[in-house]
Amino acid sequence: MVRFWLAALALIAVTDLARAADRLNVVASFSIIGDFVRNVGGDRVNVTTLVGPDSDSHVYVPAPADAKKVADAKLVFVNGLGFEGWLPRLLKAAGGKASVVTTTAGISPLKLGSDADPHAWQSVANARIYVANIRDALVAAAPADAGAFKSNAGAYLAELDALERELREAIAKIPEGRRKVISTHSAFGYFAAAYGVEFIAPLGVSTESEASARDIARIITQIRAAKIPAVFLENITDPRLMGRISAETGARVGGTLYSDSLTGEKGDSPTYIAMVRHNIKALTSALSQ
Ligand SMILES: [Zn+2]
Repeated sequence: MVRFWLAALALIAVTDLARAADRLNVVASFSIIGDFVRNVGGDRVNVTTLVGPDSDSHVYVPAPADAKKVADAKLVFVNGLGFEGWLPRLLKAAGGKASVVTTTAGISPLKLGSDADPHAWQSVANARIYVANIRDALVAAAPADAGAFKSNAGAYLAELDALERELREAIAKIPEGRRKVISTHSAFGYFAAAYGVEFIAPLGVSTESEASARDIARIITQIRAAKIPAVFLENITDPRLMGRISAETGARVGGTLYSDSLTGEKGDSPTYIAMVRHNIKALTSALSQ
């Protein structure tokens, strides 16, 4: 009897190992795509994310270990639209054989200046396209698991539908004349176009530097001219500057709007759905009367 159980346990261990070994190794370029891939792949994929939570893809510098991760992956999921400027060199360093899946394929890009705006995931309707592209690529790479990928994707797409309804209902409750904010990073073009909240980014796309005194003066002028009820200033960390803006304009200084990255597990936006919910809450509380 003991021998039977030992044999049974050994068999279970071997089966587990086999299952882990035939899981698909995939890489996601940044945390939001990593979350989408995890939702569709479930326990049939191992997902490695290059630009992790709380990190900035715009200024990312790949480490040598990233080339190995890419070389070992069956698929590499990227955003495209110029978001991962560091990608071509990384692919070359990885041997140039990686199978790259552009998850924004099929999305009509908006413009940001003269370039394509890469922040397409900020519209939930676009997130559905990312998820469908991820599903199709996983199905093609591992047809034996097609059933699991399709049913995972179906369940997640239904959650995204519910999320988008929630989002539209929340914005409908904000008085129309108050649906505008200042944000320091122009990452919300798709959100603005889809949901009718105007985002003004006087400082352009920069995520790198602390705003200067002249930047603050520009922001104050803009808030007054456009009668903007709330400002979200991600990279102004000096509380005196924040204080000056709200004292001189009467605008509310909102909390954080997450744009390009999820937070870690313990943060308030560890998943895409949590991120969108967090942003809805931050916007509605800053813009309500
Ligand atoms: Zn960005």
